[in-house]
Amino acid sequence: MNGAFITFEGIDGSGKSTQVRMLASVLRLRGMDVVQTREPGGTPLGARLREALLDAQEQVDPLAELLLYAADRAQHVRVLLNPALAAGRIVLSDRYADATVAYQGAGRGFEPSLVNEVIALATGGLKPDLTLLFDLSVAASGERSRQRTTTGEATPSDRLELEAENFHARVRDAYLQIARAEPERVRIVDASLSVEEIHAHVLEIVIPFLENRGQWTQTKTQ
Ligand code: ADP
Repeated sequence: MNGAFITFEGIDGSGKSTQVRMLASVLRLRGMDVVQTREPGGTPLGARLREALLDAQEQVDPLAELLLYAADRAQHVRVLLNPALAAGRIVLSDRYADATVAYQGAGRGFEPSLVNEVIALATGGLKPDLTLLFDLSVAASGERSRQRTTTGEATPSDRLELEAENFHARVRDAYLQIARAEPERVRIVDASLSVEEIHAHVLEIVIPFLENRGQWTQTKTQ
């Protein structure tokens, strides 16, 4: 049986991880078998790559960055995603291949054909069944990331968060372009709303999606 692969995309501070957690807990409460993961860092090897990739002190060459994300993804796909999906599980991933198109393609300026080749190699062709794009202005997301830092909710800004505003603007535009090119797969969520409003919107998209696939559990457990 095939599971369902749902990815969460958007610029830093757009609220993805908050929404992944909330959706995972709703699905689990209904007894669904959910795998909550992220890129980079969804596997033990990936966690070590994540540390290096996001380290604000690290000088990472753009090509090395592209290939390290690809290495993280190759490990993620083969060790975690493919087996989980083959076992019929519902996989929620905080970022996946669209992030490379947006960050390394539009952000760093690598040729789309090279980026696509690297993605195809790393993923072996695995595509998300559904992608939620959390769209937020660069100014608002920067403000959220700063608040997260000052409230001690997370470690200080990572290497990519520290990029200039126009870098994040290119990334945001690239995400929107992906959504326009693949409207069936990629659904845009207005990430400027409150956490609860966004969560409700996420459920409005995800429940019918799972129902259509016969993967929505009708009854609560307990
Ligand atoms: P991301 O994973 O996209 O970087 P997070 O989910 O970590 O974003 O959220 C970034 C910060 O913004 C956190 O401090 C989080 O509590 C806060 N946040 C998340 N969603 C919202 C929202 N809808 N409105 C206001 N603040 C939010």
